[in-house]
Order: sequence, then structure tokens, then C-alpha cells
Amino acid sequence: MNDSRHQPEPAGAAEGAGPVLRVAVPVPLRRLFDYLPPAEGPLPAPGVRVRVPFRGQTRTAVVVSLAEEPAVDPARLRRVSAVLDAEALWPAPLFDLLRWAAAYYHHPEGEVLAAALPGPLGRGGGPPPPPRLWRLTPAGREADPGSLGGAPRQRDILRALAEGPLSEAELRTLASSLRGPLDRLAERGWVAAETGARVAAPARPAEPAPDLSPHQQRAAEAIRAAEGFAPFLLEGVTGSGKTEVYFRAMAPVLERGRQVLVLVPEIALTPQLLARFRRRLAPRLAVLHSGLAEGERLAAWEAARSGEAQVVVGTRSAVFAPLARPGLIVVDEEHDPSFKQQEGFRYHGRDLALARGAREDVPVVLGSATPSLESLENARRGRYTRLALPERAGGARLPAVDLVDMRGAAADGGLSPRLLREVAATVERGEQALLFLNRRGYAPVLLCPACGWTQLCPHCDRPMTFHRARHMLLCHLCGHNRAVPVQCPEADCGNPDLQTVGVGVEQVEQALARHLPDARLVRVDRDTTRRKGALEAKLDEIAGGRAQVVVGTQMVVKGHHFPGVTLVGVVAADGGLYSADFRARERLFQQVLQVAGRAGRAERLGRVWVQTFHPEHPVFELLRAHDYRAFAEAELAERRAAGLPPFVPLALLRAEGSDPDGPNRFLARARERGLARGVAGVRFLGPAPAPVERLEGRHRAQLLVAGPDRATLHRALAPWALALEGLEAGPGLRWSLDVDPADLF
Ligand code: ADP
Ligand code: ZN
Ligand code: ZN
Repeated sequence: MNDSRHQPEPAGAAEGAGPVLRVAVPVPLRRLFDYLPPAEGPLPAPGVRVRVPFRGQTRTAVVVSLAEEPAVDPARLRRVSAVLDAEALWPAPLFDLLRWAAAYYHHPEGEVLAAALPGPLGRGGGPPPPPRLWRLTPAGREADPGSLGGAPRQRDILRALAEGPLSEAELRTLASSLRGPLDRLAERGWVAAETGARVAAPARPAEPAPDLSPHQQRAAEAIRAAEGFAPFLLEGVTGSGKTEVYFRAMAPVLERGRQVLVLVPEIALTPQLLARFRRRLAPRLAVLHSGLAEGERLAAWEAARSGEAQVVVGTRSAVFAPLARPGLIVVDEEHDPSFKQQEGFRYHGRDLALARGAREDVPVVLGSATPSLESLENARRGRYTRLALPERAGGARLPAVDLVDMRGAAADGGLSPRLLREVAATVERGEQALLFLNRRGYAPVLLCPACGWTQLCPHCDRPMTFHRARHMLLCHLCGHNRAVPVQCPEADCGNPDLQTVGVGVEQVEQALARHLPDARLVRVDRDTTRRKGALEAKLDEIAGGRAQVVVGTQMVVKGHHFPGVTLVGVVAADGGLYSADFRARERLFQQVLQVAGRAGRAERLGRVWVQTFHPEHPVFELLRAHDYRAFAEAELAERRAAGLPPFVPLALLRAEGSDPDGPNRFLARARERGLARGVAGVRFLGPAPAPVERLEGRHRAQLLVAGPDRATLHRALAPWALALEGLEAGPGLRWSLDVDPADLF
């Protein structure tokens, strides 16, 4: 990595001997660049940002090390133009993790470091201002929050501040848009902001902790007893009280003045979850996710870095949050695909959480009802300590799972008569039903039955989804939309009776509305939750029992607690059975068990109906038994036989370009290079067209690189990735290397 042969530009001022700065510049090149330190002032330490002249521009870069000898002719060295920080931005273990991650994912180090910084810092902005703290004024302490009934956000803020001053980052976890209500309260003279060091928040009364079950107790004690780095796999069925175990493991860490990092899947990061943390632990909380405005992100990042935040909750990128005093890392729903970044720097948040735990020397807890096969295999090999919660908390039982044989069933809007009857009976009993279908829109295909025409996306060559309410055809790959034709557009056809094929959630919702005209329906998908706060409102409506029937995509699957739901219907389970994607069955099983986990969490027993055209498939027998272990073992045996992860590590080289054959040519050359440098046991498979051959008008192909083991694969990848930079790619061609790809798409 420390290869600085091609210094970009010659420079004048050659100085005598003395250390040079080895710097990571955010450009797509897998190498570092040497610069002279500033003529005056102290030497910048590794982890400090500097401004450097680079190819006629000035760039913000990061010093990664100091070297006695420049790797280029000293006469050609240039000087950094400015030093931006007095000290390293990252604590040493995290900086070390970032450098390691760049090497592991074979991604340019400058880009990795830039991606790990909040936007303004990455662009060279000054160090963040100290966080602003809001507190009640004397008048605010006299005020009655109840008088703000018509302004719930102001009321909530007033109540929270009554227990002590809070930073804006913390307040933001109460109300998503803060400015208005805070300004209103300030106008009343009830709250005021101050800048500077925070005053410790007084301990607030927290919700009492329930008595732990013996299994919970054992799990919590094992984590509390851990010293230094110790990875745990907390395998607990849905509703078994994993979150409670996290809380018990976190409490002594917080008491010791240490910080806890909690990673959650994108969709699970809701105000309900944050409220739960607040009620039980009352920590100073910082929240990090991709939906934050830059200033908010920076404030949360700084709260984590200064140690002000005791608990940092966030989605995958929060794994890069600096922590002054780390004590514990938790990855909830560790199997969730959203932990994998799918563009740019393609890291896996869970995997980096483990690598980070090792460097910070703290325990790492991976929790899931349906652990990834990777984690199960690691546990089996003894790398993780396995902790099991085999029963639901508070005596609730797991729901019974039954199949609906769809062969010959007279389905309406994708719903069998059987499932419709069950939904009606559930509503009749005053309970809630939840139907799951992971497909947006009304129907995935619009077809002319006379000539066979279907509307394909002009940029991706895939059928466009019919969205009935918005009255348009939409490509779910690229977002392209067009009007719904009134007749078949084929020149010699013109048939006015176009038909839809297949079923999406919109159609399910309409069928339910026809069959249960009086029931209160709620649909939860990307189309109905676009508006800020819409998802929270819908989740509240479900959790509060106002919704009677819920139809949703994967958005309703994750982690939510809906005590009134006693019936779950899986509208279509077959997509994952025979897919070419090697993780499809694992995902199917996880999704069905997760959605089934929403049923019967309270006193009432839940029931799950799964609609399928393949009731004889062996997967269903295991699903009915809730036997994830047995499923995972069978699946692992197949992966081993097929030479797939976690037994054989993979990397995928993707290429795309405007020229139909360009990607293929590039990958063929890449393969030649790889073979020429051959490392024994490493195989190159392809090039082959990508499963989505054309996306947004660009042609795509891929080349798979396989095993035999991680160390050998990476020994082959490191020089290869560097060689790819020098390959002639042709105009407009882009390529990316994906180490441990989530799927081969
Ligand atoms: P999971 O995350 O494993 O799905 P949760 O932590 O959400 O489960 O717990 C499910 C429900 O059980 C929650 O309402 C929680 O408050 C409750 N619960 C957890 N542990 C206990 C316990 N020991 N006794 C009683 N209720 C509990
Ligand atoms: Zn036609
Ligand atoms: Zn498209």
C-alpha cells in the first residue's frame, strides 16, 4: 500500500533530510502520496487532516504515517499547504480499523477515510463547534407541559428538559423536526441554549427492569463477565427479550463511564426503539443514520467522539463513529442485509463491528432470531460464544405456522379464500392481522394477452411495475416512470384490454378493501411512507391497535413490537425457493420467521399462514417447526458442497459501461491479469453478464473470484486490484471490486 512511485507533479522546494508525511488523498487510487510537512509548527500526527496540492487542485487529505525516507526523488516533493487539526480526528484503534478495512476491501484508503467522516469534515471544514445544550429557564420550570396539549412536540421537549439539559442531538431523538418547536419554546421564554461543556444530566427515573428469565440471566451474565474483546452470538427467538439482555449488559458499562455502540438495521431505527432505550437506561444518546442533515450528523459524531454521548445508536455507518471510551458493541438483527453497503466502499457493518471490537478490546454482541449462516458457522468453529434464548419472554408462545396450498385456489388479489376467511375472523375477534408481501405496486407486469407485449424499462430491459394509485408504470431498478398506455402500443395490435400479471401490495390492499369494507386497513411500504414521519405514524397506528389489517413489505418485518397482531399471512413465499441467488433461501427463511415473530407476542396465541404453490418443499417443514437451526445446518451443508460462503470466500468484480461489449472486454483482460499472476487455488469465474444486464442504460458484466481461503484470496486480490487501476478501461467504463458480496447481483 505504501507505494508512492508516481508522484503526481514535480515540485520545486527540496529540503534536507527530515520526515515526510505519507498522506491518503480521496481519489480512486490504491496508494499513498508523500509530502513535506509545513515549514513551521509541529509535525502533524497520523489521523490529522491536511490540505495538499494535488493535480492542479487543493485537496483535503489525511496523514496516515510519517516516513524518514521519501519514496520519490526528494527534489520533487511538495509541501502540504495547511494542517487542519491539532490532533488526530480518530482514536488510534478506530484509525487502525479504517486502514485495515481499506486493505481488506481493497478500496482506496483516501476514499475510505473520507467516507468515515461527516461531510463537512471530509471537505476540510473546521473542527465542529462545541454542542449546544438546551435547558429550561426559571419560567420554563414553572410552566405546565400539559398546557401544550395542542403542540405535542413542544410538550415532549419541555418534559424531557425538565429532567436536565440536553444537546440538540439528543433532542432530535424526540422530534424529527426540531427547529420549529424549539424556536416556539424559546419565544415563550421557557428554554434557552448555551454553548460549552455539558453539565452531567441528573439521573432520570427509568422504567423498572423486569425479572430476567434464567436464559436471559445466563446470557447477560456471560456478557458482563467478559473482559476485553469477546464476540457473542445471542440467538434468541422473536420476542425472547434480546433487547432486555442488551440493556443488562449495557448498564454496568455505562456505570463505569464507558460508551456503548449499538448498530441496528436501517428500518429498525425508529422513535419507538429510541424511546425504549430512554425509558430503560436514560442515557445521553446520540443517533447516527444516513437520513440526518449534515449539521446533525456532525453534532452526533462529535458527541460520540467527546464522550458526551453514552450510547450511540445508528445504522451501518455508525460503526465508524469515534468513541472516547468504548465499552461494548451491540449489533442487533445481525443477519440483516442492510448492514452491507452496496455502493462505493462496500463494507459490511457487522463484520467491521467485530474487527473494531478486537481493536478496541471490548465485547461484541451479535443478536438475532435468525443469525446469518456466516455467524452460525463462526460460532460452530468456536470463534463466537453462543448464547441462546429458546423461549419467548413473559410466557408468550411462538405462533403456529400453517401452509395454504395455492394450487387450484381461487385467489383474489393474491389472497386465497382460506387466508381471507382467517383475516375476517381475526378482525371479528377484535384482533389485528398482518399480511406480508415483499413487492411494491399493484402488479409487476403489464401484458397484452393478444400479442404478448409487455412494457419494459427502456433503460434496464426489465418489466415495469404497474402502480395503480399513482397511475403509472415504474421501473423499480432505476426509478424511470411512464404513463400507462390505454392500448397495446405494438403497431399492428392496438388491443385495448391490457392485463396485469402477478400481485403487489397495492393489489392485496384493494382485495382486502373489497372483502372487508368496514375494516381499518393500513398499508406500509415505500410508496405510502415517503413523507417524513409517515412511517412512525403508521407504526403507532398499528402498535396502538387502531389498525385492524396491515399490509406491508419488509418494512413491517423488522423488530417491531405489535402486541395486538395474532394473525400473520405470508402472501407469496415462493420467490426465494428456486432463485439463482445463493442467499435467497436464507433470506426467505429469515423473513418469514421474522414476520411470523410479529404474531402473538402478548397473551394471545398467534397464527401464521404461508401461501405457496410448493407445499411439499422441505423448507416448509422446518418453517412450521420454527427450526431455524435445522434449516441452517442443511443450508450450510449445501453451501459447503457448492463451494460458496462461508466456506469459500468470494470477491466480485463488476464492470459497467455504455458500450455493449466494453465491460466484457475489460473483465476478460482483468481475468488474464489475474491468471498471469496466479495464486494457487484462486479461481476466476466468468466474465458473465450481470443478472441485471442493463441498468439505467448501462451494460453490465461481472467476474467472480473465489477462495480457497481468506488469506490466499486476499494475497491474490491486493496486487490484482492495483493492476486493475492501470488496465485500459475504455471511455465511460466503471468498475468496482466487492469483497464478500451480499449477492451475486
Ligand atoms: P426480541 O428483541 O428478542 O424480539 P424484546 O426484547 O423486544 O424481544 O422483548 C419482547 C417483549 O418481552 C418486550 O415487550 C419486552 O419488554 C418483554 N420482556 C423482555 N424480557 C422480559 C422478562 N424477563 N419478563 C417479562 N417481559 C419481558
Ligand atoms: Zn398487443
Ligand atoms: Zn429502469
